[in-house]
Amino acid sequence: MCMSHKIRCECGKETAEFTMRDEVLAPEVIKKVNCPACASADGHDAHTMLADNGWVIHYDMEVAELFAARMKAAGKVTPEYIFDEGYCTWAGYCPGDLKQAAIEKEEIVKTMKADPRGYVKKLMDWGQGRARRLSDAGWRKARHAV
Ligand SMILES: [Zn+2]
Repeated sequence: MCMSHKIRCECGKETAEFTMRDEVLAPEVIKKVNCPACASADGHDAHTMLADNGWVIHYDMEVAELFAARMKAAGKVTPEYIFDEGYCTWAGYCPGDLKQAAIEKEEIVKTMKADPRGYVKKLMDWGQGRARRLSDAGWRKARHAV
C-alpha cells in the first residue's frame, strides 16, 4: 500500500502530499519543500533539488544514497530518479492533486445512478482529460503520463 505523507512548505502557506513507492524511502528524505511563493529563484542545485512548475523539493541525498541499492540505482541516485521512479513523488500529479481530484470525481459519481453507462465514459474521459490538462500546465508527472 502507498501511504501519503503531507509536508508543509517553508512559508507554511501550502501543503504538498507525497507518496513513497514501496516505502523504500522515509519522508525524512525530504529536507524541505518550497511552494512557488517561497521558492527562491537563485541557487538551484540539480544534485539535491527537483523543480516542478514553480515548486521545489529539496532531497537529503545522503539519506537517499543509503537506499540506492534498494532503489536499484547504485551510483546513479539523482533527484530526478527519486521523483520519476516514484520513490518520493507527488501523490497524484501535483501538490494538492488528490484533494482536487476527489472533489472533481465526486461530481461525476453523482451522475452514476441516472446514467450508468455515460458515467463510465465520463469517468474515463475525466481521467485522461485531467492528465492532459495538468501536463499542459507543465507538471512533470502528468507530462510523463500522457
Ligand atoms: Zn511556501
